[in-house]
Amino acid sequence: MAPQIKYTKLFIDNEWVDSVSGKTFDTYTPHTGEVIASVAEGDKADVDLAVKAARRAFHRNSEWRLLDASRRGEILHKFSELVQRDSKYITELESYNNGMTMNMCPLIIDNGIKYIKYYASLADKIQGSTIPADGEVFSYTLKQPVGVCGLILPWNAPVLMYINKVCTALAAGCTMVVKPAEQTPLTALYLTALLAEAGVPKGVVNVINGYGETAGVALTHHPLVAKISFTGSLEVGKLIQQAAGTNNLKRVTLELGGKSPLVIMDDADLAIAVPAAAMGVFGNQGQMCIAASRLYVHSKIYDKFVEAAVQFAKAIKTGDPADPNTQHGPQIDELMMKKVLNYIETGKKEGAKLVTGGKRLGTKGFYIEPAVFSDVTDDMTIAKEEIFGPVQSILKFDTLEEVIDRANETNYGLASGIFTSNINNALQFSKHVESGVVWVNTYLVLGGQCPFGGFKESGLGRESGINCVDAYLETKTVTIAQPKKF
Ligand code: NAD
Repeated sequence: MAPQIKYTKLFIDNEWVDSVSGKTFDTYTPHTGEVIASVAEGDKADVDLAVKAARRAFHRNSEWRLLDASRRGEILHKFSELVQRDSKYITELESYNNGMTMNMCPLIIDNGIKYIKYYASLADKIQGSTIPADGEVFSYTLKQPVGVCGLILPWNAPVLMYINKVCTALAAGCTMVVKPAEQTPLTALYLTALLAEAGVPKGVVNVINGYGETAGVALTHHPLVAKISFTGSLEVGKLIQQAAGTNNLKRVTLELGGKSPLVIMDDADLAIAVPAAAMGVFGNQGQMCIAASRLYVHSKIYDKFVEAAVQFAKAIKTGDPADPNTQHGPQIDELMMKKVLNYIETGKKEGAKLVTGGKRLGTKGFYIEPAVFSDVTDDMTIAKEEIFGPVQSILKFDTLEEVIDRANETNYGLASGIFTSNINNALQFSKHVESGVVWVNTYLVLGGQCPFGGFKESGLGRESGINCVDAYLETKTVTIAQPKKF
């Protein structure tokens, strides 16, 4: 049974409100392509109201600013309990609006709860330092929240993205306006209701549903917004960085796309490597910034590996994401489905060999069979561009030296991996590959304790990890005259 949809409005000053224009937009389930709710559509006027609410909540005498840091942590801990309490509903809603399979979604939500607890525990560990400055002075630093943050989310993992940005900003003491992706507003709205229930004061977290070109642009240009944290495409990331310097100088964190290389050495344990490589690119229907979308396999084991990869892909159970046995669900929408199918056609035209899958399944919803291409070369479009779909491209290499160079021949640098039983191969690859995350003999393992972000055009800054709050803080140096230094 479809989950009941409880919240569809904008959230400003802890109130659910219609948009100023009264406009709404539809949100769909990718399983059938049918409309599941109409959601209030915010634009510039609504963003302005939300930013001003967040600014009031950031005033030095506001309830939020006067809270003890440990109390911020308690509110976040309470939030983690509420997400746990409602995890079944949140999981179903995420799957319904996003198409994430019920096979995978509960694991993601459970991991999200761990992230919340981790961020909660950081709230009262934000510390400055005392400094041995020269002269008859005493200097120390204060770490202070940066101000109103604009948090712009993608559609591919809406709950996890919301948690990552909102909970870090809250731990730091910021206030914020969240703009969920237009494709997937529903779980962000529900989580916001839980934050209010957990005790977040009014104006601290505001949510404006809407489109990137309207609500998103208004947020990135607003002079009262001090920081933007964005996860999404490289193209939009570049626009956001430009916008950040337009009306003021916003701090910017960008988590963008990837074309992540995964290397399989000839000494790898294939019983582990084949499934890991497959799930590394087919997981969440390939809609992962960290997808292992360039799979480099050593020439000595190439044919054997391709055969095993094909068997694995063929056995993946595709269907309704609500069925817990389904391993592979639909793409997010028709646009993305067509984009991925186009990449598959381009791969064939450019000479790659489609060894299995790659066709649209059915006529309802946005399903694509997991596709495996062999004989892929570095110059092909499918080896260069982020596809964001279930397409495994298998390339051949002969030496580690060669494959490190080829792995780094990209403007992206988000994730990478190597399967090998030789520690020296692992160490050499990890040191020289240009990516923010490297996995050895595993793939897709993420946790709140580990910094996450990209080299090169995959982003700016890091989320998660012990220093994640720094991205939401300013450092202030205070120097006091101290005539008789002791
Ligand atoms: P997108 O860039 O189209 O949209 C992301 C968000 O930005 C949406 O909320 C959208 O409304 C908003 N937006 C669009 N144009 C805007 C503008 N001009 N100004 C302000 N906001 C604007 O990306 P998408 O299609 O939703 O997500 C897929 C992309 O996200 C992929 O490239 C993927 O690799 C990337 N991604 C990266 C990470 C990471 O952590 N590095 C994680 C998930 C997804």
